[in-house]
Amino acid sequence: MGNHDDNDDDSSRCSMSTSSSASHKKEEEEEEEWGGWEEDGAEALPTQCLLSPMVLPTPADALAADRAQGLDLINLLSTHGLGLYRAIKLINFVRTLVLKEGLTAEAVVQRVQDQDQLLAVLNGEAGNAYLQPVLEDDPLLFALGNLLDMHGLELMDEEEQSEGTGSEEEAGLEEGQHQKDETHALREEVVELRARLKRLSELMAAVDEDVKVRTKPIRQDNDTYYFNSYAHHGIHETMLRDWVRTESYQNALQAAGPLLKDKAVLDVGAGSGVLSMFAAKAGAAQVIGVDRSDIVGQARAIVQLNGLDKVVTLVQGKVEDIDLPVEKVDAIVSEWMGYCLLYESMLPSVLVARDKYLKPGGLLLPSRVTMLIQGVSDVNGRLGWWSNVYGLDMSPLRGSVLAEPAVEAVDPQAVMTDANTFKVFDLYTVQTKDLDFEAEFSLSVTKAQALRGLVVSFDTFFEGLAGGQTVSFSTRPEAQDTHWHQTVFWLKEASEAALMEGDKVTGNLRFVRNAINPRDYDVEIAWVAHGKEGRAEGRQKFVLGS
Ligand code: SAH
Repeated sequence: MGNHDDNDDDSSRCSMSTSSSASHKKEEEEEEEWGGWEEDGAEALPTQCLLSPMVLPTPADALAADRAQGLDLINLLSTHGLGLYRAIKLINFVRTLVLKEGLTAEAVVQRVQDQDQLLAVLNGEAGNAYLQPVLEDDPLLFALGNLLDMHGLELMDEEEQSEGTGSEEEAGLEEGQHQKDETHALREEVVELRARLKRLSELMAAVDEDVKVRTKPIRQDNDTYYFNSYAHHGIHETMLRDWVRTESYQNALQAAGPLLKDKAVLDVGAGSGVLSMFAAKAGAAQVIGVDRSDIVGQARAIVQLNGLDKVVTLVQGKVEDIDLPVEKVDAIVSEWMGYCLLYESMLPSVLVARDKYLKPGGLLLPSRVTMLIQGVSDVNGRLGWWSNVYGLDMSPLRGSVLAEPAVEAVDPQAVMTDANTFKVFDLYTVQTKDLDFEAEFSLSVTKAQALRGLVVSFDTFFEGLAGGQTVSFSTRPEAQDTHWHQTVFWLKEASEAALMEGDKVTGNLRFVRNAINPRDYDVEIAWVAHGKEGRAEGRQKFVLGS
């Protein structure tokens, strides 16, 4: 799974080393954030920007990003005195230009600046088509009432109240009646939308109250943002270009081929459809690919283009929610791994699919994953660099670097200990509860260097293939780099003193899914370096996530 490459421009993939997760915040701050959602318009509703595919945490954030690109929605509403009715049209008009007609941000800004044209769209009968949401459950539409209130703008506008009467007189009675009916229907839709908006506000207020009462964070909807991020081609390109990952799956499915003849395969999280097609080419009789993201539309076209549509069926939906066209399958393939293996974990969804659909004795691809830890020095001066940046001392920023896990390709020269497998997940037996765990580790120093960080990676195994074959790949620093790279946990308390060959570094790791966003992880590391020259130790908390 690729939703974790901080080098890519995809909205959801820059979070790891610039983390500002709510779980970093103190409890009061959390309460303030929840408590203030209605007043400041910053309700936590992941919202796609109007001018770009970026999904930002709140409608206000999305509008701010659009403003930076030249589209100031609030200003437009206030300049033209647009109420809720025409504001909805404006939002859907812009979304149509961007998402359906593929106009660039610049072209959209130009179109919207043409006042006459814009008002023609918003006031004319033809513009009523824009009352239909372009995005399903568009958070911007839900937030509109609050946004108007917040900026002191009127909900009803004059156009809205007087609309319809003039055209009725001019046209024949029948035509007039038809338009009246249509306007009436659309007006009802607006009323319904406003009612939904109100219900959502009440729901959020109730949730808010609940949070205050329990003073504990609660789970929020993390799906919209997550699945939207997989609708963009960029993330799939990143994964497909990772040939270590993709070829391993291809090899594993080919090697499983003889076992798949006349058999049904389920691909959990089919994305571009690549694994479904590998399975079909390997000889499976029927492949069902499931994905909740809108990428499914394009994946269907790809499957057809490759002449595999008789074998591969793609179903859009969450694997937990949908009914498959078959009762059971003989094999399940899924690329569910996140960075540091567990971040934005999709594994629970695969386990639901396993328990519901896999026949007894069925095949899981992959079948086992292991998590590894190694000690690293700072040979490339990743931490030291901050003391002299273009001749300036920027060392205060080093503190932020040390506080957050960093996804990066670690130079194998920096690895200074052996590798310790601290966790094994057997996909046939693992349960969701096992995904919160504690584990001990013990490392032997292999290179005399100063220990500055601990690096976590994972190995993936496809076992039980035809003839007992196994296919595997590794994401360790010493292996060919993948889009997962490795995850470095820098150690604040580490000393500059070199450890000697044979010295031990021991410790304990705790991985617990974050209470607010279970796709994030709270990680705690306690460690002791038993050096011949002395002892160093530390305990540090990190958040793997957005
Ligand atoms: N199999 C593809 C894509 C892997 S990325 C490949 O190997 O290239 C993971 C995909 O799983 C994403 O497209 C995401 O939308 C999908 N996904 C994650 N959780 C899911 C769930 N619970 N139900 C359906 N799809 C899911």
